[in-house]
Amino acid sequence: GDRGPEKEIPFAKAGSLTRVFAVASGKGGVGKSSVTVNLAAAMAASGLKVGVVDADIYGHSVPRMLGVSELPTKVEDMIMPPVAHDIKVISVGMFKPPGNTPVVWRGPMLDRALYQFLSDVYWGDLDILLMDLPPGTGDIAISVAQRMPSAELLVVTTPQQAAAEVAERAGSIASQTHQQVAGVIENMAWLPCPHCDERIAVFGEGGGQAVADGLTRTLGARVPLLGQIPIDLRLREGGDEGKPLVLTDPDTPAAAELRRIATGL
Ligand code: ADP
Repeated sequence: GDRGPEKEIPFAKAGSLTRVFAVASGKGGVGKSSVTVNLAAAMAASGLKVGVVDADIYGHSVPRMLGVSELPTKVEDMIMPPVAHDIKVISVGMFKPPGNTPVVWRGPMLDRALYQFLSDVYWGDLDILLMDLPPGTGDIAISVAQRMPSAELLVVTTPQQAAAEVAERAGSIASQTHQQVAGVIENMAWLPCPHCDERIAVFGEGGGQAVADGLTRTLGARVPLLGQIPIDLRLREGGDEGKPLVLTDPDTPAAAELRRIATGL
């Protein structure tokens, strides 16, 4: 049906003071959502007003990782997002039919959902909006670029060569969409040996720097490697329990690195 003219997305308006980051990865399981929620928690803990859009149709794990069980409520024509750890959260998972029926989100539907998340949700005055994208270079990345050209990309990869190659491809979409890439984050960079000071390179080495260098070449603008987050059992546990590591164990090396990345953005 005819929905009438579209409202302007507040974050896309000229002069918007909200910085928008789209968190991307080449493939699933590299820790994109974990990084998103921990960056969000670190920023919110530092006093910034933070929102997260979970647009990862395959993963949509942000609500669990932030301990959100409530659904959004409707007030007049606005959608009120649930809040956890001072972070406003909206997820594709909150709009699924009841039960565990998988939703087949097609391109136009996804674009429509994204538009709703950005225009019909009551975000208030945000300092930061983080968007957890699905892995890869799918329709949603294009939607984000078209609807929010000012969104800066954050690319998450593991050190593994194969992972880095697909991550670089996901980041290089920015050259077609003329978006900025804020930087690359290498996750699962190493496992601290539980018995000595050594770092075990479980997933190899160099992927993060390789992606940063590759994107710098492709985009003709310096793309920095923003940080390297080690493997930490407590980060995984915190994700499962809805308590981000940066809040529960702020002194761990992984939390310190996530905080450093958040502060530097
Ligand atoms: P993605 O969003 O890329 O699919 P997730 O953030 O869901 O990846 O992470 C995949 C799994 O790996 C999760 O169980 C998460 O808790 C775990 N994980 C992510 N990063 C780390 C890390 N640095 N140390 C330990 N476990 C991690």
